[in-house]
Amino acid sequence: MDPDSIETVAVTGAGTMGHGIAEVAALAGYEVRLRDVERELVRDGYERIEWSLEKLAEKGRVDDAERDAALDRITPVVDVVEAVEGADLVIEAVVEDADVKRQVYADVCEHLDDEALVATNTSSLSVTDLAESTDRPEQFCGLHFFNPAVRMELVEVVAGEHTSAATLETAEAVAESLDKTPVRVRKDTPGFVVNRVLVPLMNEAAWLVHDGAADVETVDSTAAYGIGLPMGALELADMVGVDVTLAVLERMRAGLGAAYEPCPLVRETVEDGNLGRKSGQGFYDYDDGDPAVPADAVDESVERRLLGVMADETARLLAADVADAGDVDRAVELGGGFPDGPAKLADEHGVGDLVDALETAHEATGHDRYAVSDHLRSVAERGGFHADDADGTEYDTLAVEVDAEAGVGHLTLDRTHRMNSISVALLDELDAAIDRLAEDDRVRAVLVRGAGDRAFSAGADVTALVDAEPVEAVELSRKGQRVFGEFREIDEPVIAAIDGFCLGGGMELATCADLRVATPRSRFGQTEHTLGLLPGWGGTQRLQRLVGEARAKEIVFTAERFDAERMREYGFLAEVVDADAVDDRAAEMAADLAAGPPVAQRYTKRAMHRGQEDAAAGLELEAQAFGHVVGTEDVTEGVSAFMDDREPEFEGR
Ligand code: NAD
Repeated sequence: MDPDSIETVAVTGAGTMGHGIAEVAALAGYEVRLRDVERELVRDGYERIEWSLEKLAEKGRVDDAERDAALDRITPVVDVVEAVEGADLVIEAVVEDADVKRQVYADVCEHLDDEALVATNTSSLSVTDLAESTDRPEQFCGLHFFNPAVRMELVEVVAGEHTSAATLETAEAVAESLDKTPVRVRKDTPGFVVNRVLVPLMNEAAWLVHDGAADVETVDSTAAYGIGLPMGALELADMVGVDVTLAVLERMRAGLGAAYEPCPLVRETVEDGNLGRKSGQGFYDYDDGDPAVPADAVDESVERRLLGVMADETARLLAADVADAGDVDRAVELGGGFPDGPAKLADEHGVGDLVDALETAHEATGHDRYAVSDHLRSVAERGGFHADDADGTEYDTLAVEVDAEAGVGHLTLDRTHRMNSISVALLDELDAAIDRLAEDDRVRAVLVRGAGDRAFSAGADVTALVDAEPVEAVELSRKGQRVFGEFREIDEPVIAAIDGFCLGGGMELATCADLRVATPRSRFGQTEHTLGLLPGWGGTQRLQRLVGEARAKEIVFTAERFDAERMREYGFLAEVVDADAVDDRAAEMAADLAAGPPVAQRYTKRAMHRGQEDAAAGLELEAQAFGHVVGTEDVTEGVSAFMDDREPEFEGR
């Protein structure tokens, strides 16, 4: 079915996932029918959507008209015929029970148009098996949303054995139209991609405790503070539900073999009724709130095991052609909130060392979960998962493109899963990208922005800071200062286009641009004081030059979020432009600057910057530059264009 002809989406099951999927579909402009088995259940789902839309409106993510229009597009129904008649796509999100799902497909397909597609949100059942119970296996696939569906950007698009290429393309296009990032799962394999990495990680964490190799605190401290994951691995199991983790492991063991044997500790925890956060007790006790995972119990051998297990799962996914390393990384970053995906983490650590760690554990325990796959060995021999794509032009955290015609280099911060926050890896890549843009003769202006529509950059990725020693923090500050300094000193004029959060380190980066434009919904702040930190990437110096000492102190000391209009009044922003026009406006400004006189622009920038340190030196540089510029062809061109009343064509000579 052609993606453009999809207008009506029926979501069956109005529970945790169903109501969220219905909400995003309605926000994207689809007519939505939301179905559950009882009137009350549909009403609950609908009320959850109302509540969630209200929250989005409060946060400024939608305006009142968008909220109302989205609600208007949703029809809550109990009757199957009413739900699916004329629908173009059915997304099934009923309970995780194959028999219930099969019955739903039988009811649905009876009344559904022949060309309509059916997708399942199952987390752990076989898409192929489910498809075979329908009258349209080729038009059936997995659309695996993550919880909460409104916030989580990832959707795994799962190919069953019978799914046609056209169905997958349409499903991906629909996911994109919902403002999600689809990752294709090319084979229907237990756990798909994200759970295939996360569930064995949680199992291994439990095995380490069960075997007496480490205690719960050490395992989780290592996961959170050693590897930098958003939480400990056992904390994650508690959040997902220990029972759900056990159920997925059992399906993995049935489908993939003994390596996925659930750790007895997982089983015992479930048998004791400790299902995790939802039951108040899992690996942690939640009576007194969130668990306090210590930052200082990181253990190197635990780190190698956890990374090793994830690396081997990744290698197995690659070997089975389920996804490539880039997709596995992207999926786990978006679906698991990882700072970097498992392949990147393994590369950073050294895959060879992880193979050694797994082999040692295999010799000691004889357990299948440590049996290293041939594919991981060959990855190690190749020098890492991403060894072949490191040609110096691909970045993981940035996108760099040159619009040669306009003379504009586009630099996009691209860590949407972390609101484009600035990690050490991003600093390193920014450093390289600045050199690349500086060396490219076609680039005569630079436009920097953040990917997605939530943030320019929400700040420094503080996970790197939490367990840093003071000397490391000094180095991190210096590194950021150096890279941001280089960014500010680029010869070409730099424009920052800001839409969304521009906080902390993100605001310090924007401060380094020559001009800034932002959308009305953008929020600015040097919020470091709320964390007990201070701006460490030039924020104590550059901001006050732009907005004056009193305002800079107001911004830093209050650590508050300032709106775009206020920042324009303060002189920080050149313009405030509506969200749907900001990219065009910023591109137009960049193209105008790119058409300017490069030599004069370069020296103007240098003289202004030099003068901030030493006014006399700045004036001297200005005088020298003036003398130099007068002899250039650009001045001849500028003057003659002025006389002829035409646009000058500056060549930078
Ligand atoms: P849930 O229990 O919150 O909701 C399921 C809903 O389906 C209930 O409201 C139930 O009344 C309804 N239902 C049952 N039989 C039905 C039928 N015959 N017709 C219509 N509705 C029916 O469950 P959930 O967490 O939303 O999970 C739904 C699906 O999404 C499952 O397949 C699950 O594996 C998957 N999933 C869940 C999560 C998660 O974190 N909760 C994440 C990704 C995928």
